Amino acid sequence: MSRIIQIVNAIEGYDPDALHVEKARAAIRACLNPVTASERLPVREALGRVLAEEIVPAFDVPGHDNTAMDGYALRHSDLGAGETLLQEIGAALAGKSFDGTLGPGQCVRVTTGAVMPAGADTVVVQEIVKVREGKVAIPPGQKKAQNVRYAGEDLKKGMPVLKAGALLQAAELGLIASLGIGQVAVKRKLRVAFFSTGDELASVGTALKAGEVYDSNRYTLYGMLQRLGVEIEDLGVVRDDPALLEAAFRKAAAGADAIITTGGVSVGEADFVKPMMAKLGEALFWRIAMRPGRPMAFGRIGNAFLFGLPGNPVAVMVTFTQFVREALLHLSGRTGELQVPLLKVPAAVPLRKVAGRTEYQRGVLFRDGGEWKVKTTGQQGSGVLRSMSEANCFIVLEHARGKVEAGEPVQVQLFEGLA
Ligand code: AMP
Ligand code: MG
Repeated sequence: MSRIIQIVNAIEGYDPDALHVEKARAAIRACLNPVTASERLPVREALGRVLAEEIVPAFDVPGHDNTAMDGYALRHSDLGAGETLLQEIGAALAGKSFDGTLGPGQCVRVTTGAVMPAGADTVVVQEIVKVREGKVAIPPGQKKAQNVRYAGEDLKKGMPVLKAGALLQAAELGLIASLGIGQVAVKRKLRVAFFSTGDELASVGTALKAGEVYDSNRYTLYGMLQRLGVEIEDLGVVRDDPALLEAAFRKAAAGADAIITTGGVSVGEADFVKPMMAKLGEALFWRIAMRPGRPMAFGRIGNAFLFGLPGNPVAVMVTFTQFVREALLHLSGRTGELQVPLLKVPAAVPLRKVAGRTEYQRGVLFRDGGEWKVKTTGQQGSGVLRSMSEANCFIVLEHARGKVEAGEPVQVQLFEGLA
C-alpha cells in the first residue's frame, strides 16, 4: 500500500464515497509535510511571508519607564485629600530627559514618551492642572502610577515574541523593527502549479468554437493563489489527451510543491485525467458530502501534493477555499489556526438545505436596521460564478442540518478581512 492511502485509511470514519468535509480536511492535513528551507530577507521584503525563526528581544521595549500623556510627573505620596500645590522644577521631553531627581513637593512638566523623571511615580494630564500662585495645582483623586508606561511593557528582554510559523503582517514588521532587527529568516515561498483540463475549454484570446466555454478556472485560481503569497506556475489548458496530460503533470511535479487541476474528476468522466493521476503517483478519488464541489482528487505525484478539483467554476472556488487554501498555508510552514473563522448571524430569509452534506451557499451579509443579517445571492448552481462575485460570504450550513427558517442563526465565513 502506498503512503497516502495508508495514512488516510487510518482515519476513523474515512469513507471516500461519502466523505464528511471534516474527514477530508483531516485526511489532507495528515499527509502534508511543510517546507523547511528558508532565506534571510530585509524586514519589509518579508511582508506576507512565514517566519522561520523565533524572535527574542535582546532588550526591553520600551527601554525605560515613560509617560503616556502630556502633563506633570510627580510623587503620588505628595498629594493630599484636596488640591495640592507643587513646584515645577523642569521639563522632560520625548527624547530629552530630565536630569535631576524629584524631591518632596516638586513636579516636572512632561510630554508623551518622555523618560519618567527619577523620583516620580505618577503622571497627571495637563488638561486638569491649573497654575496658581506660580505653582502647579493638582486636583484631588489621582491614582498612583496612572499614565505611566513601564519598561518592557510591550516586549520583554528574553521572552520570545514571535514564533517560527508566524505570518508576517504589518504589526509583525513593526514589532521586529521596534527591536532594531533589520533582517529576518523566512520560509521559502511555496511553488504551486496549476492547469485546467477539458476538451470544451478555450483560452482567453482565442475564438470560441461551437460548444466551447472560456476557461475561467485558471483566473479564479490565480486570484486565490496570489492572496496566499505563493509562487505560481500556470500551465494553461490541457486537452483531454493522455500524452498532453502526462507531460503537464510531469512538468508540474518537477518544479512545484503542489499541483492544482480542475475538471475531469467527477464520477461519470470518461476521460484520461483520473487514470493519469493514478498512473503517475498516488491519488484518492473522493465524493465529498458537500455542495457544491462533490468530486475531488487528492494525492501526490513525485514530491508535489495533488489537488484535483471539480470543473464547475463555483465548485472550484469552494473546494479551494475549504481544503486547498488551508493545505497550502500548512505546507508554507504556517502554524496556529488556519481556518477562516465561522461567525454566527441570523438568516434574513428561509434557506433550502438537505441534511447529510455540508453546504456552502453564497451569501450577502447586509445591515438590516442596526443588525447584520445574511441572505443568499439567489441561484446557487455550481456553474453560476456570478454568485461568487455577488456574495461577500459563504453561508456554511452544517452536515446534519436541514432547512433553515428566517431568523435562525447560521454560520458565515467572510470573504474579506482586515489587512
Ligand atoms: P467536469 O468536472 O470536467 O465534468 O466539468 C464540469 C463543468 O464545469 C462543465 O460544464 C465544464 O464545462 C465546466 N468547466 C470545467 N472546467 C472549466 C474551466 N476551466 N472554466 C470554466 N468552466 C469549466
Ligand atoms: Mg470534463
